Formats: sequence, C-alpha cells, structure tokens
Amino acid sequence: MNQTPPVIVIAIDALEYEKVLEFNCKNLMQDFYGKTDISEFSDARTMVLWSSFMTGENKEEEILIDGDKEMWSKKWDLSDTFFSKFKSPVVLDLPGYSYDLKVHEKSRKLLKNYFQTDDEARKIAIVAEYNNDALEHHNEVKSKFYIDLYGDHDFILAYFSVIDVIGHLRFGQNVLMRLLYANVDEMCANIKKNQPESRIIVLSDHGMKAVGRFGDHSSYGFWSTNWKDLGSPRITEIAGLIDGRN
Ligand SMILES: [Zn+2]
Repeated sequence: MNQTPPVIVIAIDALEYEKVLEFNCKNLMQDFYGKTDISEFSDARTMVLWSSFMTGENKEEEILIDGDKEMWSKKWDLSDTFFSKFKSPVVLDLPGYSYDLKVHEKSRKLLKNYFQTDDEARKIAIVAEYNNDALEHHNEVKSKFYIDLYGDHDFILAYFSVIDVIGHLRFGQNVLMRLLYANVDEMCANIKKNQPESRIIVLSDHGMKAVGRFGDHSSYGFWSTNWKDLGSPRITEIAGLIDGRN
C-alpha cells in the first residue's frame, strides 16, 4: 500500500455547476467548488478541453487540425502530461489518453442515427440502446476505479462520460438527470470514505444547458476540491494546482 495517499481526480464530462447546486450534491461540491474558465476556447469541445487540462497548454489549434472525426483518436504521451510527475499514475478512460475508442465511437454513431431518423419507434429503440451502453460503460469504469483505489498508485484519475452522453438526449428531463447526478455524488462519497487523507478534485470539461429536452455544452466547467479554493481557474492551470502537496 501507499505511504502517502494518492491524489484523486474524478473527471466528469459535462458536469454542470448549476445542476450540482440545484440537486444539492454535497459530495460533488466537497469543501470548495466553483466554475472553471474556458473562455479562451472557441467552443466547448470535449477532446480539446481534456487535452488542454492534461498537458497544461491550450491544445485547441492542434486538435482541430485533425478534424472532427480524427480528433477522437488523438493520444498524448505520458511525458506530454502532468501525470508523468507522479511515480505510479493510473488514468482510466480519459479522452486523448486512455479512452476506450470503440465504446465512445458507438455512442456518437447512435446519437447521429437518432437525429437522422424521423421514425419515433426507431428513436425510442436508439435511446434505449444508447442509455444502456452509457450506463454499462459507466459501471465498468467505476468498478476499475474502486479497485485502483487499493492499488499502489500515487495518482488516480477516472473519467466518466455518462452525464454528457445521456445529457445530450435527455438533459431537459430533470428526473433522469437527478438520478445520474446522485450516482456520481454517491461515488464521490465512497471515494472520500475510502481515502479520507487523499486530495480529491472533481472536474468537468464544460457543463450543459438544456435545449428543449436535449442538452448542449455550456461555456464553463465545474471544479471542486477538499483542500483548496482554486478560484476561477483556466482549465490549463489546474494541472499546476493539483500537482505537488502545497
Ligand atoms: Zn465533454
């Protein structure tokens, strides 16, 4: 086991600041919380934002050169990221690093199919498969995350996409979103119970706003920690703030 408790990053795609407050998710809020500043980016793109987070540099231009489809296969080396400052980091399913490309490609394909069909029965079938895949994948990453908490790691990051994926089709439906937020809130409580000495940061790339029943990315992200007020950090500044014990 570790001598020092690991630094833990719970990376939640599209976790929305306003919803964390509305649903009163105390465990996600931790002791300090706020919004990140992503105003330097032309759009709230998942791959651009996580890439910029892990490298500590604005990678928008570099990612966009690859094009909308190709950008998803982008993979940064460990040495490009602040993870390399740790001895034994583990990073689960993060876009641009350790992402399960097949799972996420299937989600994007189903989403596209949903908007391309006018057939209501077909739409319902697509949503069922889409939500089911997202939840199944969520549970898989969560199980790995819980196991890695007991491994010999000084840094653990786990990325969860379910709130973004399901939010795109159902963000306007509070009942479902409340359940998903409760799920990640409870996960956060479990992590804290298991690793009370750890520094824990919850981070989203961007939030989400309702467009009818659907959801679109909002133009700021969410952060929280159990040790320090980060103010309104740019996403490229977070690496420096969570690296080291000060
Ligand atoms: Zn995202």
